[in-house]
Amino acid sequence: MAKTKKLKFKAEVNKLLDILVHSLYSNREIFLRELISNASDALDKLRFETTRGTEVVNADLPLEISISVDDKAKQIVIKDTGIGMTEEEIVSNLGTIAKSGTEAFLQMMTKNGKAEEKDKQDASAIIGKFGVGFYSVFMAAEKVVVTSKSFQKDSPAVRWTSDGLGSFELDILEEDIKRGTSIEISLREDAAEFASKDRISEAIKKHSNFVTFPINVEGDKVNTVTALWREPKFKIKQEQYDEFYKFISHDYQEPMDTIHVSVDAPVQFNALVFIPKQVFDMFGTLREDRGLDLYVNGVLIQHKNKDLIPEYLAFCKGLVESPDVPLNVSRETLQENLVIQKISSALVKQILNHLSKKAEKEKEKYEAFWKEHGKIFKFGYSDYANKDKFAELLRFNSSANENADQLTSLNEYVERMKEEQKEIYYLTGASREAIESDPHLEIFKRKKLEALYLYEPVDEFALSGLSKFKDFELKPVEQADLAKLDSFKEEEKEGEEKAEELSKGDEKIFEKLLKRIKDILGDRVTEVRESKRLHDSASCLVNPDGSMTSHMHKMMQMMNKEMTPPQKVMEINKNHKLTRNLLKIYKNDPRDAFIDNAAEQLYESALLLEGYLTDPHKLVNRINKVLEQSSEWHPSSK
Ligand code: ADP
Ligand code: MG
Repeated sequence: MAKTKKLKFKAEVNKLLDILVHSLYSNREIFLRELISNASDALDKLRFETTRGTEVVNADLPLEISISVDDKAKQIVIKDTGIGMTEEEIVSNLGTIAKSGTEAFLQMMTKNGKAEEKDKQDASAIIGKFGVGFYSVFMAAEKVVVTSKSFQKDSPAVRWTSDGLGSFELDILEEDIKRGTSIEISLREDAAEFASKDRISEAIKKHSNFVTFPINVEGDKVNTVTALWREPKFKIKQEQYDEFYKFISHDYQEPMDTIHVSVDAPVQFNALVFIPKQVFDMFGTLREDRGLDLYVNGVLIQHKNKDLIPEYLAFCKGLVESPDVPLNVSRETLQENLVIQKISSALVKQILNHLSKKAEKEKEKYEAFWKEHGKIFKFGYSDYANKDKFAELLRFNSSANENADQLTSLNEYVERMKEEQKEIYYLTGASREAIESDPHLEIFKRKKLEALYLYEPVDEFALSGLSKFKDFELKPVEQADLAKLDSFKEEEKEGEEKAEELSKGDEKIFEKLLKRIKDILGDRVTEVRESKRLHDSASCLVNPDGSMTSHMHKMMQMMNKEMTPPQKVMEINKNHKLTRNLLKIYKNDPRDAFIDNAAEQLYESALLLEGYLTDPHKLVNRINKVLEQSSEWHPSSK
């Protein structure tokens, strides 16, 4: 008899097991779903190997899952005739967790990394989605014995035994067994209810009804084994779709939307695509991990095929079946497969159409979609083929909205546009408040021109990527051609004092003052000029015409990890009280040091507003000086 090896679980497995043992379970039965889904995966893999002609052990075994129950011994055994595991495979599959983001997942499950009583979380709600399903068996088991025989020739059967406490034992079996895996579960006292044929059948009907292989409990088939996506739509009830979605996604909620399509040309395919109610992307890997399952004639060719769905629709779950994909194609060549590309582009059109209809007919529901999935969806600006449709589906907050929660579409913006307006304006900032106090917006407010408020970096990429919507150019307010805005009448506030016009002579002096300010700031600015956009503020910085916006610039810099302010144009508000006073000071003595200080302060204040100021010391010293000086004027200090 070969010697038993004792092996330790990897640290992350121990942490997970610790959590599972101590967790709350609102829905403990999902451990059955996880084990059955693994069995089903193993059968899918075997079927795939057979169809591409690989020689497998026990080729004539039926592909199925059998479950037996012993209510006296409080045991269940789940057996499949799938691909099985070799010794090496079993050690790595059932001893480690090879998932990215494991650490983050464990942190999230337990607030401080330890599964302490007081901050218990419900493990059953989340474990399946993360895909460490096998270990969920320890929510119900005190001991588990996995016996497996690989489909590959000459690989001995192997047995894995564990109580989920730190280690597992491994034996190589001398006797030969049939291909596949059996999982023998000795139930915990508090999970004894599962040693019942009825209890198990009920759980299977609920969670595993759509497994495409027969599941027999004590000899009776419990699941329906139908390929729902091939059924005619009118025959399917929403509950069936919901159940199917929960089955493939391991989600506990119903889907937000169900999209069932059958296409005949240019390629033939059936697809069943779901939009979840909530994105599950806690590690930010969703776009990379996206995919739809690909079936050919009932055989699962690939789980999560990325090429079927673009990144910006990564939240979609589901599957595609097409007889036009060659069966024996390898996964590498699948990527370049033209059929896949055609399916994908037809499917994307269907999904976008679905969303358009929703946006049109169910505004509130569409906004709920946007709030949940918009962050990812926005990346679709690079889908050139669907540019127009995509643009209509975008939503933004806008100056025409009353608060930061409301949304506006580009179409709505266009409807509200002034007759002569040729451009759609937008401005990026950290919040509605920040944007509304941005000096660049002053002229837009006064002329009652709508501006879209952008809060996320991708928003600006999306709009500058699209560059146009219908006949209208999409423009950051900072880059608007102000001469074109002249024709729009300015709102005048009641009781507002209008600044006096400057005399011809003073205009000349103002020009000189601007030159003097440019000399003070030197190369830090490309130009100092009179502002046409400011009303309330004394100065602001703008980009030399046509160059990128500050926000965009900052993003580029963040990528390159440097933060030098870009050379900009400084604009001065001629009518501002400060400017008028500077003019007087200049007239009296063009070299007055107050002008130097004022120029520096105006420049640094503007930098501060744009988020570029990295050394606040000088600025603070200067302000303190000014405060000190002005305090001398305070009546009480006289
Ligand atoms: P996942 O299914 O998301 O990969 P699991 O924790 O459920 O994660 O399973 C881990 C791995 O163990 C699987 O990927 C598979 O390789 C292997 N495995 C589990 N159950 C079986 C089985 N019944 N037959 C063959 N391999 C299995
Ligand atoms: Mg699994």
